[in-house]
Amino acid sequence: MGNSRVNKIKILCVDDETSVVEALRRLLRENFEVLTATSGAEALKLLEAHPDVGVILSDQYMQGMSGIDFLQRSRTVVPNAVRAILSGQIELRQISEALNRGDIHRLILKPWDNDYLRIQIQEAVTTHGTLLEKNRLRQLAITDPVTGLSNHRFFQERLHELWRRDVGKSIPLSLLMIDIDNFKAVNDDFGHLAGDQVLSEVAVRLTSSIHEGETVSRYGGEEFAMLLPHTDGTQSRLRAESIREAVAKAQFAIPQGDPIRLTVSVGVATATSHADCKRPSDLISAADRALYRAKKQGRNQVIVADPTLDRN
Ligand SMILES: [Mg+2]
Repeated sequence: MGNSRVNKIKILCVDDETSVVEALRRLLRENFEVLTATSGAEALKLLEAHPDVGVILSDQYMQGMSGIDFLQRSRTVVPNAVRAILSGQIELRQISEALNRGDIHRLILKPWDNDYLRIQIQEAVTTHGTLLEKNRLRQLAITDPVTGLSNHRFFQERLHELWRRDVGKSIPLSLLMIDIDNFKAVNDDFGHLAGDQVLSEVAVRLTSSIHEGETVSRYGGEEFAMLLPHTDGTQSRLRAESIREAVAKAQFAIPQGDPIRLTVSVGVATATSHADCKRPSDLISAADRALYRAKKQGRNQVIVADPTLDRN
């Protein structure tokens, strides 16, 4: 039994009445690790230190920050925690709005029945487990196992999201298609382990070159796709040039033998409105054609697609 405590799910109870949090602690401590706070501010601090909290139970009426406000703010700190309001009188409209926004998951009325509360908490813990598993599967589904980058599926989702969000409002969106030159030779000369290591190292370099809101995904094979929101054609050409240069200057370690040199070719395309880019796939085709030209013209270079996303 010695370390069973370590594996107990953490429950955070928040109420401005000490007697209430103490009653909850006594009720739940047998099965859970109970943390308590008497204000929203104190509770948020506790969550920073315990991001693995599974269930939060909060009073609504407290000095400073209301329970709903606290639970809403807790979402960014512990997105997978199940959040419940524990309250006597409560305005139903407020509760239903918070439920609809996903800020809270359930309402437990005071005074509570001990057995009923235990069942509610047990159910919340199960829900928390389901949320964790769902997120784990989601992560798995959008991650490329070789490089750890997001994969083609994620890239497609993100492209569609940005195309709707930005391009519809005539905010530019740029796509860089980056392909490692003569990659087949790496696999042929040094083996597939070396090939995978090179892909990973290129991925690290690409990741370190992106800014907030930008994404880089493994598109497939030795090809990477970088989405640059709010970036016009001129800016994206500069970004592509600096990536190309950085790769050309770098040395890439391989499992056996001396580090090797590599180059990349980059196709760049920018969508500026739904008029010049009717579908997200138009942006991909334009960047693909630019990449093809970069390859054909000798590799290790950047080609920018025609601004009207030429459809020849
Ligand atoms: Mg209160």
